[in-house]
Amino acid sequence: MDFDWASLRAAATAVAARAHAPYSGLSVGAAGQDSEGKVVTGCNVENASYGLTLCAECGLVSAQRAAGLGPLVAVSVVAGDGAPIVPCGRCRQLLLEAGGPGLLLDADGGPVRLGDLLPGAFTADDLAARSAGGLGGSSPRESTDGPRA
Ligand SMILES: [Zn+2]
Repeated sequence: MDFDWASLRAAATAVAARAHAPYSGLSVGAAGQDSEGKVVTGCNVENASYGLTLCAECGLVSAQRAAGLGPLVAVSVVAGDGAPIVPCGRCRQLLLEAGGPGLLLDADGGPVRLGDLLPGAFTADDLAARSAGGLGGSSPRESTDGPRA
């Protein structure tokens, strides 16, 4: 599937101008599209209580859900200057659930697969296999197969 990376990056750059980043000074915009070509965007929103800061990808994923889009297939995340910037660890995890390991991320050297940026990711499959009600068996507290870390 071909993507109009220039348009996606332009949308991310435009929304970065709406970021609320008075503390770091790093405005970030994100634009993503689903397999039907529908595009959603998000920008970072910082807070005086730094830990409450929302990355641009948080807004993007919320917008994806709010607009009823399918899984994201291409995402561009840029700083305010329009140059691609890599998602932080938390956002790689968010994007994984929003698009899967095959989601393509805009990068200077060409698109990269999200799965290559987050190998061995924790997924819903891990929950199903390891939780008490999951497919894989008993709760860790009920298990008798040895000590736990
Ligand atoms: Zn992030």
